[in-house]
Amino acid sequence: MHVGIVGGGQLGRMLCLAGSSLGIDCTTLDPAGRSSASQVAPSIVGGFDDHQALARLAAAADVVTYEFENVPVASARFLAELVPVLPPPEALEVAQDRVAEKALFSQVGLPTAEHQAAGTLEELHGALERIGTPAVLKTRRLGYDGKGQAVIRDPLLAEDAWRSIGELPAIVERFIGFERELSIIAVRGRDGSTACYPLVENRHRDGILRLSIAPAPDVTPELQTKAETHITAVMGRLSYAGVMAIELFQVGDELLGNEMAPRVHNSGHWTIEGAETSQFENHLRAVCGMPLGSCSSRGNSVMVNLIGSLPDPATVMRVPGAHLHLYGKEPRPGRKVGHVTLTSERGGRPDLEALAAAGVEAP
Ligand code: AMP
Repeated sequence: MHVGIVGGGQLGRMLCLAGSSLGIDCTTLDPAGRSSASQVAPSIVGGFDDHQALARLAAAADVVTYEFENVPVASARFLAELVPVLPPPEALEVAQDRVAEKALFSQVGLPTAEHQAAGTLEELHGALERIGTPAVLKTRRLGYDGKGQAVIRDPLLAEDAWRSIGELPAIVERFIGFERELSIIAVRGRDGSTACYPLVENRHRDGILRLSIAPAPDVTPELQTKAETHITAVMGRLSYAGVMAIELFQVGDELLGNEMAPRVHNSGHWTIEGAETSQFENHLRAVCGMPLGSCSSRGNSVMVNLIGSLPDPATVMRVPGAHLHLYGKEPRPGRKVGHVTLTSERGGRPDLEALAAAGVEAP
């Protein structure tokens, strides 16, 4: 099998690495000459809307997938005329629009924060009157890692917030005083078979994921079942194949859907060492029509993102249970350049102090 991957970032790189042990060849497409993925597998250098480059990717592949959700839908549809594209382009379309995403969540019975679309400043004022403050204003499209967002605490400051997000079509959401953020990651095969990983607890700062704890502590079987039921329904609606993640807010026994990622997800990196089958392997198995692997955890894991700078690799390697992953990217402020997963046997706790002593602070 040969899989084409649109995007050559670290997610593409980890997909390529997972493919190599299964005998699945991967080729990525990315505008960067020395992308993260190009360092481990063949790559085509080209824009995501460059039809010639897309056609070359399709010609090399039995199936095409993608590693980020802002792939132009027109490009996904262009590819789909040449080769199967999985997850289906419709999943991209939904994930690219926060309003469509929340509508889908509602259709399957996954509650969301109260929200309203706002295309103009007047509509923003109207939405704030209905929803109240504090509220979160987010661009409908192309927001990631907390970019294109503003919290509105006072309706008098609505105009400032509107300008700060670039006066773009937006969604206004009620600000949720959640207990914690969780994510559910699942995989659906081409035959509709589905498997779900345990819920993960995620900690963000400045809108960027810093740390994931897997499995999330203190999750009741009911909460896990609820999350699984929701993501299975979302994937079913989309006739999905591949890995999907849904980010959730926990409020008491309730789960609110925040957003979905139609791809492998940062909060699933722990699965490389911490689960029976990694999310990257399962994604490839799914899009290639192969049997899915077990999503059970092997013990307890904590994944810490390396953001902006790198610790001394040898010092991290000396920490028992630490697994270092570097993405081959130049460190820059705010840029994810690697991650460390700390694992421990079932019943044990990953040794975060030892990791901090090695220069990797777990927030
Ligand atoms: P998002 O881009 O939607 O994932 O939002 C980035 C982060 O902002 C989330 O991980 C939350 O920590 C926070 N956030 C987003 N939406 C809300 C909300 N409606 N209420 C409270 N916090 C939010």
